[in-house]
Amino acid sequence: MIRNEIDREVWDLSLQAEEDLKDVYQELDRICMVNSDKVLSAFLENKVSYSDFADINGYGNYDPGRDKLEKIFSAVLGTEDALVRPHIMSGTNALYLAFSALLKYGDTMISLTGTPYDSLQEMIGLIGDSTQSLKAYGVKYEQIDLIDNEFDEEKIVERLKKRDVKLVEIQRSRGYSHRLSLTLDKIGHLIERIREVNEEVIIMIDNCYGELVEEKEAGDIGADVVVGSLMKNLGGGVASTGGYVAGKKKYVDMVADRLTSPGIGKEQGANFNQNNAFFKGIFMAPKAVNSALKTAVFAAYMMEKLGYKNVSPRYDEKRTDIIQTVELGDEDSLVKFTQGIQESSPIDSFVRVLPAPMPGYPFEEVMAAGSFTQGSTIELSADAPVIPPYTLYMQGGLTYEYGKLGIMAALTKARKK
Ligand SMILES: *Cc1c(COP(=O)(O)O)cnc(C)c1O
Repeated sequence: MIRNEIDREVWDLSLQAEEDLKDVYQELDRICMVNSDKVLSAFLENKVSYSDFADINGYGNYDPGRDKLEKIFSAVLGTEDALVRPHIMSGTNALYLAFSALLKYGDTMISLTGTPYDSLQEMIGLIGDSTQSLKAYGVKYEQIDLIDNEFDEEKIVERLKKRDVKLVEIQRSRGYSHRLSLTLDKIGHLIERIREVNEEVIIMIDNCYGELVEEKEAGDIGADVVVGSLMKNLGGGVASTGGYVAGKKKYVDMVADRLTSPGIGKEQGANFNQNNAFFKGIFMAPKAVNSALKTAVFAAYMMEKLGYKNVSPRYDEKRTDIIQTVELGDEDSLVKFTQGIQESSPIDSFVRVLPAPMPGYPFEEVMAAGSFTQGSTIELSADAPVIPPYTLYMQGGLTYEYGKLGIMAALTKARKK
């Protein structure tokens, strides 16, 4: 049993954690209840039926299941419409698709959260020389950096008084940066400020890791376009691939035309028999996100009490995504912690994690990913660049109990000298 391998001090501290975290968990459960109601109500409203799971092949004409699924996503995200397809193969693909549909030659986009997530850099054309980057298509890119983890509101408002900007992008989650994630209250406030000076600019949120973490969603605070991955929160650990673009109907229609073809839009596209998994995924998502959050809170508590530095967010801090970061301090602890996560994963537990080079990165990486769905990060996972200060990024946990076992196994391993 894994239990028998766990270090005594770690185990005893976990008992204390259950006591000390009661209020935090209670609040997470309250949010889970609100979001579960939101999801279940959307199922009832849309009269989801067993027949909606039928496998429609070929062109995928008349698939009521596909249409209802998209209505459920838009209801949950607080948007008018949504495009949720297995043909959108990931969050990165969804982002590129949305940018490609909404930005034309000569248009300007601005990132309002500084340097965007790693996988966006080549698509924008900040690095590499792809002939398919936004830059190669004549899209101009600007960015406004955060100041002390906050939006540079005055600069943003000044810049958007000029009406030459087509789209602004806001990354809610920290990604692989040391900044804090941005709560929906903060983003909502910024959107209000932007709307005072500019009605037209398309406000797009990279929503990855943020869904169902708060009571509100990105659409509720006025985002025009919201983009995410089904290997994360809304896949619920059940969807085996996919991404979504939700938002105002006119924008979702543009993105759908780009995915399929003008004249087809959302009307076609066989879903490869994924309807059942996608429905079940969003159905399970509130609880999966709740488990991932409790796992993160537990990890934050344990690691802070055991003396690790820069545990962020802290265990009792308000969260807007499922990411937990912590400094492991030295290479040996980082590698061992990551190995411990891998060794207590249901899949590939026997695989030994070692630092390895990653394409496009100037340093080695460690990555623990023992998931049912390849690369899924709503399942317990951890990775880090192997460079000082050895900051680990972890997220996921389909059940709190499995998550807790993984964290305790990893801590036991990391602390063994
Ligand atoms: C994960 C992530 C993406 C990309 O999603 P994938 O499904 O991994 O391609 C984009 N932006 C942010 C902030 C993310 O966390």
